[in-house]
Amino acid sequence: MVRVKKAAAKGGVSERSRRSAQGDPPKGAGGTKAAVKRQAEKEPKEEGEQPLDLGGQRQRWVHFAKQQKLSSEEAAKLLLDSFEYKGLVKHSGGCHCGAVRFEVWASADIHVFDCNCSVCVKKQNHHFIVPASRFKLLKGSESLTTYKFNTKKALHTFCKFCGVQSFYTPRSNPDGYGIAPHCLDEGTVHSVHVEQINGKDWEKAIKEHKTIGSMSKS
Ligand SMILES: [Zn+2]
Repeated sequence: MVRVKKAAAKGGVSERSRRSAQGDPPKGAGGTKAAVKRQAEKEPKEEGEQPLDLGGQRQRWVHFAKQQKLSSEEAAKLLLDSFEYKGLVKHSGGCHCGAVRFEVWASADIHVFDCNCSVCVKKQNHHFIVPASRFKLLKGSESLTTYKFNTKKALHTFCKFCGVQSFYTPRSNPDGYGIAPHCLDEGTVHSVHVEQINGKDWEKAIKEHKTIGSMSKS
């Protein structure tokens, strides 16, 4: 609750944040309609603010955030991540020169495609596919350049300084990302299973593949 305490010291903290920080239970605890109404009267909605009513969970919330030494926002992120990305780990990676850096949530046991289409074979493109929501570009959007050819559906993004393609947008999954496992930082990958995909006969291979299409769906 570092941020809340800081805000309190400056005197700029809202009534709700103050009560959260001190762990006071809401009056009439139990989340009755009357309690909610009183709370609502006390805390007029600021424009654009989405109030988070923790109800009877307020004590747990405050305890959790304090124990983890997190701000409310950080605690919310941690809980949402652990729910949405259950069983997944956060890998980080990037290009060779460091201009491009990203993080991606995926299994520690990754399923990699080794494609033999005209471009993949030239650059030995091995990749695993994730939904776009699990990928976050941390830096380097201005350092990326994109190569397209043929249908122009695949976006072969690479670093314009070092030439390394650490991720791209595959034609098979334009709503997701293909991540180069060899561009991940060490320590988070448990195993790598490689599947050959016959990109030379792309339409047939993708049509017949049972799971590749769902890999970019969250
Ligand atoms: Zn680079």
